[in-house]
Amino acid sequence: ENSGTDPKNLRVKLVLLGDSGVGKSCIVLRFVRGQFDPTSKVTVGASFLSQTLALEDSTTVKFEIWDTAGQERYAALAPLYYRGAGAAIVVYDITSSESFNKAQYWVKMYVDHGLHLTSINHELQKHGSPDMIMALVGNKADLHDNRSVSSQDAQEYAERNTMFFIETSAKTADNINQLFEEIAKRLPRPTP
Ligand code: GDP
Ligand code: MG
Repeated sequence: ENSGTDPKNLRVKLVLLGDSGVGKSCIVLRFVRGQFDPTSKVTVGASFLSQTLALEDSTTVKFEIWDTAGQERYAALAPLYYRGAGAAIVVYDITSSESFNKAQYWVKMYVDHGLHLTSINHELQKHGSPDMIMALVGNKADLHDNRSVSSQDAQEYAERNTMFFIETSAKTADNINQLFEEIAKRLPRPTP
C-alpha cells in the first residue's frame, strides 16, 4: 500500500512468496545489505527490513519488506502477511520445476478461480491493496547449467497473470536492483 501522500517519497509494503529454499531471504539481503552469505541458514521466524531506492525522476521509494518463513507452511498466516501490501514478489528457483509449480500455486491460491486470471487475486484484493504489483522471479540464474524452467515458459505464465517476470541471482547480484526498480516504477503515484 502506498501509504504516503507525498508523490516524491513513496512507501510500500512488499511481501515475498515462494517455496522454502528458493532464495527469498538472500534476494532481500542482497538488495538491502548488498551481501550474499552462502552459509546462511533458512530463515527462522519473520524478518522485516527496509530499503529506500532513488529513481531517475528523483522520487524515492521506501520498501518495507516482509520476509517470513512461516508463510510457506501456514496458509492461515497469509491474510496478516498481505494486509496493506502494495507489492508481492513470487520467487522460484530456475533449477527446480517443483518450485515453479509451487510459485504458480502461490499465485493461484490468491487468484480468483473465475473465468479469467486477473493480475490481482481475490485474497490480495481483500487483504492487500487493490492495485498490488506482482513480480514473478526466477532466482539462482547463476545455476543456468542446471536450468529446468525455461525463461519462455515463465514469461508466458507471467504475462497470462499480468505479472512482470525477471530472472535474478542473489549470489552474483544479477538483476536484483532491477527487480526492485521495476516494482518501484510500476507503483501508482498519489495525486498531489
Ligand atoms: P528462502 O527459504 O527462500 O528464504 O531461501 P534462502 O534465501 O534461505 O536460500 C536458500 C539457499 O539457496 C541458501 O543456501 C542460499 O545460499 C541459496 N541461494 C539463494 N540465492 C541463490 C542464488 O541466486 N544462487 C545460488 N547459487 N544459490 C542461492
Ligand atoms: Mg527465507
